[in-house]
Amino acid sequence: MREQVIDLHMHTTASDGTCSPSELVARVRQSGIHTFAVADHDTVEAVRETTELAGREGLTCIPAVEITAVYEGKDVHVLGYFVDSDSPTLRRFLDAGRADRLRRARAMSDRLAELGVPIDMDALLEAAGGPNSGKAIARPVVARALVAAGHVQHVQEAFDRYLADGGPAYVARIGASPADVVGIIGEAGGVASLAHPGPLRKDALIEALAAEGLTALECFHSEHDEAATGKYLEIARGLGLAVTGGSDFHGPGTRRSESFGKVGLPQQYFDDFVARARTTPATAR
Ligand code: AMP
Ligand code: MN
Ligand code: MN
Ligand code: MN
Repeated sequence: MREQVIDLHMHTTASDGTCSPSELVARVRQSGIHTFAVADHDTVEAVRETTELAGREGLTCIPAVEITAVYEGKDVHVLGYFVDSDSPTLRRFLDAGRADRLRRARAMSDRLAELGVPIDMDALLEAAGGPNSGKAIARPVVARALVAAGHVQHVQEAFDRYLADGGPAYVARIGASPADVVGIIGEAGGVASLAHPGPLRKDALIEALAAEGLTALECFHSEHDEAATGKYLEIARGLGLAVTGGSDFHGPGTRRSESFGKVGLPQQYFDDFVARARTTPATAR
């Protein structure tokens, strides 16, 4: 029998994924994943539809979000699981995050024009559906506009030449601190996990956040090799944190998409994480 996978990190068209909820659920089923979470950047727009579609297929979808915090001038991604998508506090917070993303997309578009590689911002904004659509504009969306305009061959070239951290068209996000984000997730009835600590390269932050109510660490991720996974499992154990994991799938043919259906969270860690999420009192988060 094919191995059953638990994958708690993937994206849809509500942020920078290329799959709609229905396309994603079809791929989840085909890939042998039975439990998954849509963790879009700064939006819970796709959670309800994906959960409904998953239920019809006998799959379990856990409500989630990947919130961008800012720390020492760098983006820190904090995953929120079991959040109440209707929480007014969370909604207000995410609305502000997406508004800043819109400001930043415009600023990046201006920079690209100055660099002689303009993108069709009107088409991008139309596809994003306006400020009330619930869709978050993330850098891969801008990268795809550069491909569509014929300035680069593929998304990775757009990052390498213009959009990567510190690149000529990179514009930083303005946002809350990681500790504040952990607090907001708790207020929305959820538990927080620090996303992909490997590429983040801010290990000192893990202990600081553990003291601020962080519940888990994303030890299993497509950008973690065996050594990195082992290192973060050790750190999680030492700090008494639960463990999460997922592929960070953004759609077929996107970066790291070959990890889909392979990289995931072993059942024993999932069971422990769910037990911890159930017993963490909202006041202690
Ligand atoms: P944003 O939240 O708008 O800053 O976009 C972050 C997203 O861009 C990540 O979740 C990845 O999907 C993608 N990304 C970030 N850095 C790179 C890179 N160097 N190459 C390719 N994709 C990247
Ligand atoms: Mn992304
Ligand atoms: Mn991330
Ligand atoms: Mn992600």
